[in-house]
Amino acid sequence: MNFSRFISAISKARMPSPIREATALVASAPPSLISLGGGMPNPGTFPFESIQIKAKDGNQFTLQGKDLSKALQYCDSSGIPELRAWLMSLHKKFHSPPLLQEDNLGICVTSGSQDGLLKAFEMLLSPGDNVIIEDQVYSGTLAILKPLPVNLLGVEVDGKGMKPDSLLKVLSKWDPEDALDPNSDIPKVLYTIPNGGNPTGATATEERKRKIYEIAQRYDLVIIEDDPYFFLQYQKTTAPSYQFLDVDGRVIRTDSMSKILSSGLRLGWISGAKPFMERIVLHQQASVMHCSTLSQVLAVKLLNMWQMEGFERHLNSIQTFYESQRDHAISSATRWLTGLAEWNVPKGGMFLWIRVPRVADTYEMIMRKALEKEVVIIPGGCFSVSNDVPSSYCRISYSTSTPEVLEEGIRRLSDVIREEIG
Ligand code: PMP
Repeated sequence: MNFSRFISAISKARMPSPIREATALVASAPPSLISLGGGMPNPGTFPFESIQIKAKDGNQFTLQGKDLSKALQYCDSSGIPELRAWLMSLHKKFHSPPLLQEDNLGICVTSGSQDGLLKAFEMLLSPGDNVIIEDQVYSGTLAILKPLPVNLLGVEVDGKGMKPDSLLKVLSKWDPEDALDPNSDIPKVLYTIPNGGNPTGATATEERKRKIYEIAQRYDLVIIEDDPYFFLQYQKTTAPSYQFLDVDGRVIRTDSMSKILSSGLRLGWISGAKPFMERIVLHQQASVMHCSTLSQVLAVKLLNMWQMEGFERHLNSIQTFYESQRDHAISSATRWLTGLAEWNVPKGGMFLWIRVPRVADTYEMIMRKALEKEVVIIPGGCFSVSNDVPSSYCRISYSTSTPEVLEEGIRRLSDVIREEIG
C-alpha cells in the first residue's frame, strides 16, 4: 500500500520532538544510563506518598517508591511499554492481525478512543476531501468532522451494519482507477462503528465486513474501525474484526477502556500499520504528549494481576450485565411501544435505536414534550450527517438505569408519542 497517498500535508510536516524521543530512550534504557536531558520534574518533590487500589474482586496493590515515581512522571508518547505489550497480546488473541505477522502493527495509547479518532482524521484528511461515513453516526465523530472543510458522504446502516450497496452507490461517481490520480477527489477514508453501533445499536455481520473490505480494496480506501463496544458484544461467537481481515494495512482501529475499566481513566488506544501509527505518535507528542501515566499504570497493574483469564472473566460479567439491560429495554419497548415504534434488537453496546414511523421528525417531540414528562432521550437528528434533515428516530441508552426506571422512561416515551400522533 502507498501509505504516503493517505497522509495529509499537516501530518507529513510533523517532525519528531528530540525531547520526547529522549524520554522514550530513557524509559527503555539500562540503569547505567546517565540522563541529563529531558525536562522531567524531580518526582521527590511530588506530594504523593502512596496510592492504594482495591478492586471489587479483592485484588489489591499499593503504588509507592520507584513505581509511584514512574506513575507520576512523563512517559513515552505511545504509552508505557508494559501496557503496550499487554495490548499487543490482546490484539493477538482477539484480532490475529495479519499485520502483526509482518511486524507492521503499531499501537499508541490515547486519552480515550475519541482522542485516537481525532488524530486519525487529522492524519488522513485534507481540505476538500470526500469522507465516507455511516449515517446515522456517533455525534462525537460528527463533532470532529463537521467543522472541517471536508464533504461527508453518508452511507446507510441497518441492523447488520453498513450496507455495501449503499456504499457502492456513493462510490459510483468514481472509477476505482481514479485512486491512482493524485488530483482526483475520490474518497480515501471510510469510517464505521462495527459493533453495538452508536446510535443504531447495529453489529456488522462477517459477510458485510468482507464485502465492505473488498470494496475498500477496490477503491483503495482506509477504513477507520471505531470499536469501543467490541467487548460489549453479547454473543459468544462474534464476527471477525476489520483488523483481522486486513492484509493490506488499510485498517486503523480505535479501541477504548471506557466501557470495560472506566471512562474516567481516559484510556484508549489506536492501532494500525506502522507508517500510520508513527504519524499518530508525532501528533501525540505535539498535543497531550502522552496519555496519563497514572491511568496507564493503574490499568496495567490490574490487568497483569488478572492475567488474560481474569480479564475475560471481567468481560463476561460486563457482557452479561449489558445483555440483561438490553433484554429489559426490549421487553419494556415491546410492552409500551408496540404499534407506535419499531426497533432492532442490539447484539452489543448500550443503545436502542427507535423509529417512530408516524413522527416525521422527533426533535420537537423529544426536546420539548418528553422533557416536560421528565424523560431524557436523544432525538435521531443529532446523529445525522446532514444538518436539518428530519429524523423519525430517537436513541435510548439502557446502560445506567435500573429495569424499573428504564421501563418507566419508556412508558413516558409512549405517552409522548401517543400525544404527538393524536
Ligand atoms: N466512538 C464511539 C462510537 C463512542 O460511542 C464513543 C463514546 N461514547 C467514543 C468513540 C469515545 O469513547 P472514549 O473516548 O471514552 O473511549
